[in-house]
Amino acid sequence: MSPPRLTSHINFIRGVRLAGEPHTWDIQITYPADSTQGKVTSVTPHEPSTKDDFECPLALPALTHPHIHLDKAFIHSTPEYAPFLPTTGTFQEALSSTTKAKQQFSHSDIIRRGEWLLAESVTSGVTAMRAFVEVDHTVQLICLEAAVDLKNLWRDSCDIQIVCFAQDPIFSSEYGEQNMEFLETALRKYSQVDVIGTTPYVESSPEAAKQNIEWAIDRALGLKKHVDFHLDYNLDSNKDALVWHVLHTLKQRSWTTHSTDKRVMLGHCTRLTLFTENEWARLATEIHENKLPLSFVGLPTSDIYMASPPRTSGDCKSPQDRPRGTLQVLEMIRKYSLDAVIGVNNVGNSFTPWGLPDPLSLACLGVGIYQAGSQADAELLYECVSTRARAAIGLSSSHSDLCVKQGCQPDLLLVHDRDDTGCGLSRPRTNVAEVVWTPPGKLNRDVVSGGRLKFSPFAGADSDSLYQI
Ligand SMILES: [Zn+2]
Repeated sequence: MSPPRLTSHINFIRGVRLAGEPHTWDIQITYPADSTQGKVTSVTPHEPSTKDDFECPLALPALTHPHIHLDKAFIHSTPEYAPFLPTTGTFQEALSSTTKAKQQFSHSDIIRRGEWLLAESVTSGVTAMRAFVEVDHTVQLICLEAAVDLKNLWRDSCDIQIVCFAQDPIFSSEYGEQNMEFLETALRKYSQVDVIGTTPYVESSPEAAKQNIEWAIDRALGLKKHVDFHLDYNLDSNKDALVWHVLHTLKQRSWTTHSTDKRVMLGHCTRLTLFTENEWARLATEIHENKLPLSFVGLPTSDIYMASPPRTSGDCKSPQDRPRGTLQVLEMIRKYSLDAVIGVNNVGNSFTPWGLPDPLSLACLGVGIYQAGSQADAELLYECVSTRARAAIGLSSSHSDLCVKQGCQPDLLLVHDRDDTGCGLSRPRTNVAEVVWTPPGKLNRDVVSGGRLKFSPFAGADSDSLYQI
């Protein structure tokens, strides 16, 4: 096992650029004796102050995975799972082949694939994540046990929030009852579980899906945990959206921003892209008027791969008319003042065989998917994989903008312009938008977690003057 090595606590980071600021700055971090958490206690002009010195690194808030599957990562990179590689690429195939692959999961195998995910994520700049691990009759508690071990091992570099997750039915199917028993055992046995997650749409009927929603909300409320649903993952206007039942149940149980600091997350929700203007307005009004602590997470790499409208043999659409759907998170934030973020979801498995566990590559994809070309769009996309994602999963009480300031947590991503071409050239990224439009390679990312710098094989000679430890 190999969590990254970190330096001792950094006291000063000197001469960095900040988002939206023209000059260079010194960041002071202090560590109160009564707390394990450091804080940024001052940000002051660097002397001598240099304007637009793009050789100085750009210091930004670190990245966050608001939704990622730890136990199913990189199945495709593991030779023993070769029989389960996709052949048709359908959702049904992904469900059935992953169920078969899960029969072979072992503790050591989950640790190995999980560490690949953690290593690539942390090196990308991720210092916090909401990690889903499945609990059901097939894997029983082995994914959860591995996640608890990884949470402990990697705690200095990444805050891993564990979701005890029912990917399978719990109120229908042959194994529903057994799956539920394993969930209850997991919740009783592991205090490290932070979130209860379920998948209402895999239940065999709308009634069972509603029972699934009510059970998860009641258990989460009772146990003081967050709740997280994979919801409305279709583009079928003939299917009723279950989001209304989630809202109804939250209102009925009085789960509001005033009653608890625990939050509710809804993932995928591609069906909502078929909503009318009136339905969106009603959704936003219900959430705001009832003060529901509710966030949405769009999962674009999975959504555009999997979520397509149903085709029937009789339909007369042109053969290449294949619409895709994923939540328009930027519009949800700006037009409806909803809380929305984006997440990687799956990497290296049949649900999403493509993509990296790098939130910046996801933000970059967002520029294309949302046709979001302005600098302000890029900054909002960065927030969606950083400060907004952190707040949405309940790790901070509110989200800040991207300029590091007094009071910030010392979790930072420093973007450098080291030569990564071998040609003696480097192209500085002068602002946040350029970091999103053309994400820097890992060679140009320094990661500070809890005020400690992750040792990097790429660190330059500038590190000694930059970080005062
Ligand atoms: Zn998911």
